[in-house]
Order: sequence, then C-alpha cells, then structure tokens
Amino acid sequence: MNHEQSRALYDRALSVMPGGVNSSVRAVRPYPFFVQKGDGGHVVDADGNRYIDFVMGYGPLLLGHDMPEQVQSAVQQRAAEGPMYGAPTEVEVELAEFVTRHVPSVEMVRFVNSGTEATVSAVRLARGYTGRDKIVVMQSGYHGAQESTLVEGEGDHTAPSSPGIPESFAEHTLTVPFNDPDAARDVFDEHGDDIAAVLTEPILGNYGIVHPIDGYHETLRGLCNDHGSLLIFDEVITGFRVGGLQCAQGKFDIEPDITTFGKIVGGGFPVGAIGGKSEIIEQFTPAGDVFQSGTFSGHPVTMAAGLETLRYAAEHDVYDHVNGLGERMRSGLQDILEDQAPEYTVVGTDSMFKVVFTRDGPDTFEGHCEAGCQQRPECPRYDHCPKDGGDVKQAETERWERLFWPAMKERGVFLTANQFESQFICDAHTAEDVDDALEAYKEAI
Ligand SMILES: *Cc1c(COP(=O)(O)O)cnc(C)c1O
Repeated sequence: MNHEQSRALYDRALSVMPGGVNSSVRAVRPYPFFVQKGDGGHVVDADGNRYIDFVMGYGPLLLGHDMPEQVQSAVQQRAAEGPMYGAPTEVEVELAEFVTRHVPSVEMVRFVNSGTEATVSAVRLARGYTGRDKIVVMQSGYHGAQESTLVEGEGDHTAPSSPGIPESFAEHTLTVPFNDPDAARDVFDEHGDDIAAVLTEPILGNYGIVHPIDGYHETLRGLCNDHGSLLIFDEVITGFRVGGLQCAQGKFDIEPDITTFGKIVGGGFPVGAIGGKSEIIEQFTPAGDVFQSGTFSGHPVTMAAGLETLRYAAEHDVYDHVNGLGERMRSGLQDILEDQAPEYTVVGTDSMFKVVFTRDGPDTFEGHCEAGCQQRPECPRYDHCPKDGGDVKQAETERWERLFWPAMKERGVFLTANQFESQFICDAHTAEDVDDALEAYKEAI
C-alpha cells in the first residue's frame, strides 16, 4: 500500500494542528491515513486505498457512509433553507418526540452538540437536582473530555487524570471498578448522603467493551434509590445501537433517571442529548434553574439527519442486519481464536465487537460464550475474561496497537486504533465484508 499523500498531508497537519489531528485517538503511529471519502461500509484514503471500515466515525454511523435518500434529502433541504436560526424549529420537536416514544425512561430531552456536552450538563443537572456535589464513576469509564470525570485513582483517593484540571474537581468524584457490587456498596456506605449520582455506561464501550455481570445495574439502581441519588446511564455509544431503538436500558430492563445520548442520534453530525423524567429534565433553564444553553443546540441539519436516520432504522430491518453480522463476526472470531490464540477474548454485543488480547485462557471451550463475552458465571472463560477497565489494561495492549492494528490496515481492514475502543458494524456492511475481515484476522493474529 502506498501512503504518500497521507504522509504529505500529515506533514502539513503537524505544522498547524497539535499532533496533526483534532481528536487524539486519530493520531495513529507513525501517521494516520487521511480519508478522501466514504463508500457504504468502506472508506477510501487520499492515496486511493480502500478499507472495510469498522471504525464508523467511532460510533455515530449506524447506516454507514451512504446516506439513504430520505436522510440525504432532509439534510440537503435543511442546509439549503439556511443552516440555523436561534429560534426553535419543528424538526427538534419531532426528534424529541421520537426519542421519548422509544426510550423507556425518557419523557423529555434537551439536545446539545456533543456527548461531552451531554455528560457535563447531566452531571450539573444531577448536582442541581439533588443539592449534592459528589458523583460516582467507573474506573476507566469514559464520558468525554470533561473536568468531573477525567479522574484516576480509587474510591475517594482520586486525582485529575490530565494537567489543567484543578484537584478540587477530583475531590467530588469517587471511582469504583465496573462490575464490582461490593465496591459500589462501600462507596455508598461511606458517602451515600453526599452522592448526587452514579454515572456509568450500561456496557463499557470505550475500554474494551465490558458487559455487565448479572445484577450489576440492579445493584446500582437499588443503591441510588436507597440514598436518594440519581442513576445516569451514559448511552452516547450504546444509544440506538445496543438494544435497537429502546437502547441498552431497554435491553437490560433498567430505568436510569437521566440518560445521555450522542453519536447515532445526530445521524453523523455533531450532537448530544440529555433525557429523563420530566421532573428532573425540567430543572434545566428556562423551565428550572440549572443553567444550560447552546448557540448550536438542536441544530436543524443535525436534527433532520438524526430523525431521518432513526426513522429509516425503524422502517427497515437495520438492527436485525447489523446485529446478525455482529454475531457472525464475533462467532467467526471466536473460532479463529480457539485455533490460534485461545487466551484472547472476543467481546461485544449487537453491532459492537472487539478482540481483547487477554493473557490467560480457559482449559476448555465447552459451553463458553459463543459470540462475545456475556459475563456468564458458567462460562469456562469467566475467571479470565475482563470484568472492568483495569482488566482490559492488563491485556497485550502494545501488541494490539503496534503489530496487530497495522497488519489489519495493510490487509484493508480499518479498526479503531487501540485495544480499548469499540468497533462497529453498519447497515452497509455485508456478510462478505465480515468474511473478508475474518480472513484478515486469521492472518494478522
Ligand atoms: C463518545 C463518548 C462520549 C463523548 O462524546 P463526544 O461527542 O466525543 O464529546 C461520552 N460518553 C461516551 C460513553 C462516549 O462513547
């Protein structure tokens, strides 16, 4: 593969943008390929190389790169009528109606412009609503580039994980390992009266894809109920992907108090949203006192793209298709690993998948999770599969990033660039794409 154009573009980019990119995960070594265009389930780079794309913009592209006719015409019409106004439009109401109709816990929604903005606003809302300052997050959970969740450490011994964040932010953030009910109980025993909210992804999607163990979300829900704290599900990745239109909360049958959305709900344009019970969401200004505002919020082009994308998904068998291919991919990967790397773990559900390069394998494969780790206690792999972000970090992350990722790229398969981020199937992918990718895995692992 020739990468001359990408190399030259990166050379220019390094002079004018920090690290040559606008989002840090894109800066793969030695340099990223620059995308010229998308094409269904593929991308074509500046040198004309074509890749099967399982990055899908890091999650937003449920349908792939070709907008169906109804999405494309809605977007073009909106753009042609003037991109935005600073006054409300019907399409915002329609998307809000769609979301509240399909997501069980959501009665009202406020649209913003990114997942980060959604989680920032959700944390402020929870603090404003409860009159408490502390929030509980999962160790190595990801909620965007926000001060309150960029923390490291354990329990109440937390510190900012980035320079530029005052210690005082971390003082109000408590961390627990995902899938550890005792740790959650302990933190509530000690700080219960001060905890405004628990903020977690229903499935860790930014740290290897970790499925909840049976009963974990119920434990969190119960602890929040007992202590007057709110449960916030960050469904920025899982929303309108896992569990289809009802989202992961519908699949797991858990009602969070607040849900954050992003990614898919904007149909490929910048978006975020905060939803929940009316009583809580109406604390946002101007209905309530918790300040929340944004010049671009509810942007008509984004709203049209999100609405038509979700309508398209509702009217076609999009979720059956992507979830079926997800299963084909994960079980195909499982077969490859049994032969070639039995210590590695296939993770993911619905249209999400990844291989975690774990270091210890089971003695037998009998009765194991067939198409992605489900954290079943009866699975022979249960004692080895990653239960939280820390376990994923113990995997062969360097091998994944430095040897495996480039080998897949050379074989025309574009994966998220490190061990931690999820990969995605889109509606434009075919069984042949999956089988081609599996061939590449077979060679590269
Ligand atoms: C992507 C993501 C975010 C951040 O969203 P941005 O749009 O990148 O700001 C927050 N939470 C989760 C779970 C995410 O996956």
